[in-house]
Amino acid sequence: MAPSKMSIPPPNIVNSEFKEPLLCGPGPCNMWPSVREALTKPVVSPLCDQFFSALDDIRAGIKYVFQTKSNLVLAISGSGHSGMETLITNLVGPKETLLIATRGIWDERAYNVANRYGIKTIIYRVPYNTTFTLEELEKQVELYRPTAMFITHGDSSTGTVQKLEGLGDICHKYGTLLLVDTVVSLGGVPFFMDAWGVDAVYTSTQKALSGPAGISPVAFSARAEQKIKNRKYETPFYFDINLLAQQWNCYGNTRSYHHTMSPPLIWALRECLRQLSIETLEKSWERHAKSTRHFHERLQRLPLDFLVPNPEHRLATVSTLVLPNGYNYNEVVKYIREKHNIIIFPGLGPTAGKSLRIGIMGVNSNSAVADALADALADALQALVKSSL
Ligand code: PMP
Repeated sequence: MAPSKMSIPPPNIVNSEFKEPLLCGPGPCNMWPSVREALTKPVVSPLCDQFFSALDDIRAGIKYVFQTKSNLVLAISGSGHSGMETLITNLVGPKETLLIATRGIWDERAYNVANRYGIKTIIYRVPYNTTFTLEELEKQVELYRPTAMFITHGDSSTGTVQKLEGLGDICHKYGTLLLVDTVVSLGGVPFFMDAWGVDAVYTSTQKALSGPAGISPVAFSARAEQKIKNRKYETPFYFDINLLAQQWNCYGNTRSYHHTMSPPLIWALRECLRQLSIETLEKSWERHAKSTRHFHERLQRLPLDFLVPNPEHRLATVSTLVLPNGYNYNEVVKYIREKHNIIIFPGLGPTAGKSLRIGIMGVNSNSAVADALADALADALQALVKSSL
């Protein structure tokens, strides 16, 4: 049989070199040098002892960083959104109700995911530059008695951090599971899964853990585990926690194949967790608070405002800043990228056109980076005002 005629020529893919930027947006962040090195370790069979022992190390590391004794802990192959989709689809069935506490774009993503699976959604919204009080959340849970409530701990679209302590008890009083996004908060600000009664949590590697995106730690409480074991509805195969728990050997003697995990991402995640374990969570939280405090002190000399008025609501990993009238957010971002090789982001979702989003986290959480950012902002404000005169 004559081969079909080639109609698409091979593309000319050029392997271009570039100077690594300082990544100070709300994520991704630069990687720890040791994580970068871990990514180049050999690929092995996902059914060998080296791989199994890395999975065990990762599970121990996840228990530490989430502060949980739960056995149902593992990592999903995918970026932060995969953690979100895993939690929602495993814990809330079609026609069950998800209450979504909304103050930024991630809660809106949760709404989008839930709607695709026929889940009933209830939105409870506060202004995007504030956070929820436990009293108002309790009123909503009491009123709707939903199957679960979704809430974002650190919101990278608004630069706010939500108080969670006590929320688990409130949810459990009404038979509701508490689902939490910690993608941009974990490692940067305190989080205590068991003590705060969180039933399911996900995070990702590319923020305060300073690793590559593509793998997302998740954990489930005993209450959530019961729900997963007894559920009558199907979940997407790729995110089925019952099957993934067997691949990750969460209950012992079940190293079964579910999908081919990426060994470089496994080595990288293990190294992120090793770094944090060596530093300790307490020291990492302190370091993040100190660097951001230093950054904010430097900002006092500049004509910038905080988008989040209450300092207690401000997230230590991501600052949201309002420019004086006459400046264009995209121009400031572009200037700082081109002149300083520093990446910062404009607003997103509710903060689009209203703020800059600046992340000081992971390997970049130190006073030298805070100073470089403050200098770059001062330069941009001066240069751009001149050019617009
Ligand atoms: N939640 C939060 C708080 C985030 O900041 C992000 C990413 N910016 C996500 C979820 C989604 O993660 P990913 O882009 O890795 O899918």
